[in-house]
Amino acid sequence: MSDCIFCKIIEREIPSAIVYEDDDIIAFEDVNPLAKVHILLIPKKHIASAAELREEDGAVIGRIYLAAKKIAEEKGLAEDGYRIVNNCGKNGGQEVFHIHFHLLGGEKLGLFV
Ligand code: 5GP
Ligand code: ZN
Repeated sequence: MSDCIFCKIIEREIPSAIVYEDDDIIAFEDVNPLAKVHILLIPKKHIASAAELREEDGAVIGRIYLAAKKIAEEKGLAEDGYRIVNNCGKNGGQEVFHIHFHLLGGEKLGLFV
């Protein structure tokens, strides 16, 4: 998607601090962190939101959770815990329409961060 900022991050057209990458997933630091650790995990396939998921996307979404677990361990979050959040659509507070999962931690989080 040529006008999608997260697709541009995947293509390195927009710089970001990448913390994990494989063939199907990329994870990078959120530019406006809401917690001591705030990382975004996205599939490289452009999927607009959770509402647009198809049956064949199930595996990559599961693998995003496994990548989040790995990153959480590397960042020292595993023992005290962390949060994985997906905002879906306008009422869910989604601002970037390339599905993404926020990994938040490093401190005690409030209900809505
Ligand atoms: P949403 O509200 O859609 O769930 O979250 C979008 C997130 O993307 C926000 O936390 C915002 O700070 C982050 N974000 C928006 N633009 C950029 C960018 O260009 N680079 C990075 N690293 N994060 C971004
Ligand atoms: Zn995209």
